[in-house]
Amino acid sequence: MTNVVEVKNLKVHFDGYQGFLKDFFSKEKKLIKAVDGIDLEIKKGEIVSLVGESGSGKTTTGKALLSLTHQSEGEILFEGESVSQKNKKAMKLFRQKAQMIYQDPYQSLNPRNMILDIVAEPLVVNKLVTSEQEKKERVIQALESAGIKPAERFMYKYPHELSGGQRQRVVIASALILNPSFIVADEPVSMLDVSIRADILKLMVEQRDEKGISYLLITHDLSLAWLISDRIAIMYLGKIVEIGDAELIAGSCMHPYSKALVSVMPVPRKMKNRERIILKGETPNPGRIPTGCRFHPRCPAATDRCKTEEPALKEVDSGHYVACHLV
Ligand code: SF4
Repeated sequence: MTNVVEVKNLKVHFDGYQGFLKDFFSKEKKLIKAVDGIDLEIKKGEIVSLVGESGSGKTTTGKALLSLTHQSEGEILFEGESVSQKNKKAMKLFRQKAQMIYQDPYQSLNPRNMILDIVAEPLVVNKLVTSEQEKKERVIQALESAGIKPAERFMYKYPHELSGGQRQRVVIASALILNPSFIVADEPVSMLDVSIRADILKLMVEQRDEKGISYLLITHDLSLAWLISDRIAIMYLGKIVEIGDAELIAGSCMHPYSKALVSVMPVPRKMKNRERIILKGETPNPGRIPTGCRFHPRCPAATDRCKTEEPALKEVDSGHYVACHLV
């Protein structure tokens, strides 16, 4: 399978704000390393999940990957071509073919616009339709692909007239209207009722099966990632610490952080006897990255070496990579 997206050594660093007095007196600039050197490949029709706690850099990775935030370093290849501001042609194609589904369907739809205009916006901005009739036909097609049927009944409504699930389907229709080959879905069901989450995930998988769309699914929920992904990447403080086949990560992951996440994952009753690993210490802060292995202050297996030497992400089995000195 060919790679749709390839990310090489992606870094997103920001100058941090420590508070007025601290900034005034401090000579040191605080650097927030939100994303700190990520390599990732996503194949055609593949669903890869990026899983980690809040503050791990998942959303920033997704945004940087779509050039929606600045990149400090690194290269992004889309369908084999380097995407950068210098390569205008590749960037234009990338902007059309790579789309984002946001977490909050309430915030991501302009309440003053009709559904017709919201979904048609990418077509209009990119001058891809020549008549009102063509615009309506494309919107109807996108809405129906996203499960809004009959589309004619909904497209003259406003977002507040729709349910949460219908709004998220409109968000998906807006992402689908330019026939994307890659979608970053940032916590796409976390704001929805449990009863409609499965429908939205099913829709994403159907789109993958029918159109070969590849997804980067960003989620804090490992069980959800396990349910629909081909591969799972576990992220901690700006880095991927383990990546591999979804079944393998859920069943026999090797990194102590992945093991802790898996141990608290909801599972069928027959697996209920496993030991829960509750991590100690503070939640990650990308402005204060520990020396050595960045997980060492919370790692139950840490040794002295872990405090000084950062482990590299190494292939331990075909397609299974882990960053830990003990593996
Ligand atoms: Fe834990 Fe050390 Fe492995 Fe880091 S390198 S995960 S601190 S055992």
